[in-house]
Amino acid sequence: MNLTVKKIIISIILFLNFLHSAEVQELPWPKGESFLTFLEKYSIPQKLYFDLEKEDKELCSEIVADKRFYLYTEDNGDFNQVLIPVSDDIQLHIYKESNGQFKFQTLPINYEEYTETIAVPISVSVSHDLQQATGDVTLALQLKSLFKGVVDFRKMQKGDFVALKYKKKSLLGRRLGLPELEAAMVEIRGKKYYRIKNSRDDKYYNEKGKGFTKSYFFKIPLTYKRISSVFTKKRWHPVLKRYRAHLGTDFAAPRGRKIYAAAGGKVEFKGRKGGYGNTIIINHHNGYKTLYAHQNGFKKGLKRGQRVKKGQHIGYVGTTGLSSGPHLHLGLYKNGRAVDPMKVIKRPKTNGLSGKKKATFIANAKKIISNFNDEMKSENRTQATKLNRLTYKSEVKKL
Ligand SMILES: [Zn+2]
Repeated sequence: MNLTVKKIIISIILFLNFLHSAEVQELPWPKGESFLTFLEKYSIPQKLYFDLEKEDKELCSEIVADKRFYLYTEDNGDFNQVLIPVSDDIQLHIYKESNGQFKFQTLPINYEEYTETIAVPISVSVSHDLQQATGDVTLALQLKSLFKGVVDFRKMQKGDFVALKYKKKSLLGRRLGLPELEAAMVEIRGKKYYRIKNSRDDKYYNEKGKGFTKSYFFKIPLTYKRISSVFTKKRWHPVLKRYRAHLGTDFAAPRGRKIYAAAGGKVEFKGRKGGYGNTIIINHHNGYKTLYAHQNGFKKGLKRGQRVKKGQHIGYVGTTGLSSGPHLHLGLYKNGRAVDPMKVIKRPKTNGLSGKKKATFIANAKKIISNFNDEMKSENRTQATKLNRLTYKSEVKKL
């Protein structure tokens, strides 16, 4: 058995023991609670936090209020261990060793992931019919944003169709995060429109490989010296023998260098955010948010709730929140899920795929489309057909 597998099994056992124990509590993370105030509450030395590497300190700032975490206390109420999820993939684990020492580690979340393909004939409206068939309200929103400016969903009527392929995650029988659309088809009066995600770049194209990249239009928010830390969702480090995660891109740049909005939107947050220090979050209203951390200071006069344009000056590079050199940590969130900023920000060279990439994409698209057609023909077409159910997600990228 290799170490990675062992590690995963250990984390499952740990988690199961956890659940069967009487003292385990599943709690919503209190509003206003930071990682440090949590340590204080349970008399855990703050050194535990200050000794962490900067990427781990940043992970501690990803804790979201109201998100469920698992706390295990001893009979006398003393802290024993805690599991705090910081993304769909990674959770923080703090535990007390028998010698009384506290330890910190990041562990993968062993969720279940499966793909569903569904074809739904329109009877009332896209939103209503999709919710009836899938139990999810966000799929219709994602669908509408994919076909924005192309399909007028209000004009859909009886006899029209939508077909979707999407991925869902669940943890202990409960939904984890939002479903992710892999492919969609809309049929209006016999005319079919497609959007299919290309797994290589996470962008959507039509069945011919033509791109629709407008909504992905971000710019790099500063002139930087170098990228000092890349985005990593969950990576096993064979030398350190532990998991690493970094939910953003770090750009090294001198203190005081101007930071600009990566795209237009509304300033949703402006202030201190744990290990992220002075932070701004901009909501771009297309499911995307950007986060700018460790700022030395904000642009004078910038207010929460204010609208900003792409390229508008918002703040200055600094080192607030942690002690390493000045840099900008840029986070990019799609429907609340951290994604690699550099994958999305890159300006597309062409408005579509070409060459071998195009051929591979089209071959895959054909399979999905034929799947949709089979689904539309089936008798029971308002029922989601669960394909690849319970695809156990345990693969871990190695360095
Ligand atoms: Zn960072």
